[in-house]
Amino acid sequence: MKKCYFCHSENLKEELVDFDFWWGDRLVLLKSVPALVCQDCGEKYFTPDVSEKMKKLARKAAADESAYEKLNVPIVPFDETVAA
Ligand SMILES: [Zn+2]
Repeated sequence: MKKCYFCHSENLKEELVDFDFWWGDRLVLLKSVPALVCQDCGEKYFTPDVSEKMKKLARKAAADESAYEKLNVPIVPFDETVAA
């Protein structure tokens, strides 16, 4: 059994996760990616095969964004005033 690199827990479980990452200047959200998830700190691990497919999917999505559902997210500057 693998150990978590960050918290050294051995409590890792295979799960399908949503994973967001930047591909160039585009943010891509991949849905239902198989990962090994640390049940203690939440860190996600992907096999080399899965990582490779994630890159290919991101490249495919960047080439034809119209084929995919979109998510609108707020873009918030950190110096924005907030209530205490
Ligand atoms: Zn961990």
